[in-house]
Amino acid sequence: MTTERRIDPFTGRSVLVAPGRFGLGGVRPAGPPEPSDARCPFCPGNEADTEATIARWPDEGAWQVRVVANRYPVVAPGYEGAPGRHEVVIESPLHEADLADLDEAHLAGLLRVWRARVAALEADPSIAAVLLFRNRGRRAGSSQPHPHGQIAATSWVPAEVALRFARAEAHRAAHGEPLAVSVLREELEGPRVLRSDTEIASFCPYAPSRPFEVRFAPRAPGAFADASDPALAALAAHLSTAARALRAATSVRDHNLVLRLPPARVRGEAASWHLELLPRTGGDAGYELAGGEMVVVVAPERAAERLRSA
Ligand SMILES: [Zn+2]
Repeated sequence: MTTERRIDPFTGRSVLVAPGRFGLGGVRPAGPPEPSDARCPFCPGNEADTEATIARWPDEGAWQVRVVANRYPVVAPGYEGAPGRHEVVIESPLHEADLADLDEAHLAGLLRVWRARVAALEADPSIAAVLLFRNRGRRAGSSQPHPHGQIAATSWVPAEVALRFARAEAHRAAHGEPLAVSVLREELEGPRVLRSDTEIASFCPYAPSRPFEVRFAPRAPGAFADASDPALAALAAHLSTAARALRAATSVRDHNLVLRLPPARVRGEAASWHLELLPRTGGDAGYELAGGEMVVVVAPERAAERLRSA
């Protein structure tokens, strides 16, 4: 077993693929956090416990997905130095459901709500970037067991978003095509593909930041706000497959989902997006803190093999 250093083309950061370290670390307790009291604010019937509804799906009848303002925002309109908007996407009326439990039609509905919120927030001239993510389980930073995601829209471009966009633009200038297109072409020829169709490809990326990381990318570049219904339906199918495979192939339940978006209002082929499913097995330790680069104990080629056969 050796350690291989790979460069993540999207950040320029090194990733250390180190299968020899498998089994080390991972000491923090996993699983959903304990609710702070018996009454869950995200369960149907308790709508008065949250802020007002911003968006919902479907439009009529019982809600399946509901978006509210975050009661404990990181950024908010009145925050001096950190103005912005912070929303919670309640993903299901079912308290115990997780990604792998939600069917494809439900996930497609959820993704259409994401698209509508990203489009609405990006249209606000005071917003510079939109972060969309999901924390599941304590290792992923979740404080609420009911399935939900979050959208933080900031009035500045956060460093990670700025770095990724600058690298993507430099690649486009140098090679005449989007970085996402170059990377996807290579991934589709390689051993890490999980599934691919005319709309979406899912794969374990060459330089992951977590073991069993799965990435979902559109076959044609473009803004997430402009993604078509068929593209979102395909993304829902890929996400469902990957979540179920991950559940079958590993004991890892805690994860983050991160939707990688360029700064707000970037459109066309400069606006490539992708979605990352990041299983969380343990904490970032001293090497990661000191070096700012990740040590990954499962090679993505091996992860893809396991997930494909799950
Ligand atoms: Zn609940």
